[in-house]
Amino acid sequence: MGTRERESIESRGINIAELLSLLNKAFADEWLAYYQYWIGAKVAVGILHKVVTDELEEHAKEELKHATMLAERIIQLGGTPVLEPKEWYTVANCRYEPPTNPDIHLLLEQNIRGERCAIGVYKNLLKYVENKDPVTYDLIVEILKEEVEHEEDLETIRRDLR
Ligand code: FE
Ligand code: FE
Ligand code: MG
Repeated sequence: MGTRERESIESRGINIAELLSLLNKAFADEWLAYYQYWIGAKVAVGILHKVVTDELEEHAKEELKHATMLAERIIQLGGTPVLEPKEWYTVANCRYEPPTNPDIHLLLEQNIRGERCAIGVYKNLLKYVENKDPVTYDLIVEILKEEVEHEEDLETIRRDLR
């Protein structure tokens, strides 16, 4: 990205370093969400676990796509995405919940909590960039739409499994 976009974002009152830090926090969230879904799908047990693991695998792919989108925007803005996986834990907003108990009902609960956290994070980010950074705004809208879908999909499966 050129200096011009940075200047125009800054002239609207955004501190680029602060924006980059918020985007990097979301980036770390996405990697942890990706792994939580991915490993959850591997270890899941329970009647009808296939219904759940198909959905978890699909969500894992989408979280990885969100990480890609955020990394690209961070780089466009002149920043560096978190380079050290061990920093994901400390940088992230949302908790990583290891699937220590692979029961599908518990996996669903853990991932629903994760999605609720992600939705809160992206709503705050939207407020932060609203009317100030239209490119980041559109990107976050796109991600948020999928997080809402993720939560709804998991809630539906949880209801159907009752
Ligand atoms: Fe995501
Ligand atoms: Fe999600
Ligand atoms: Mg889904």
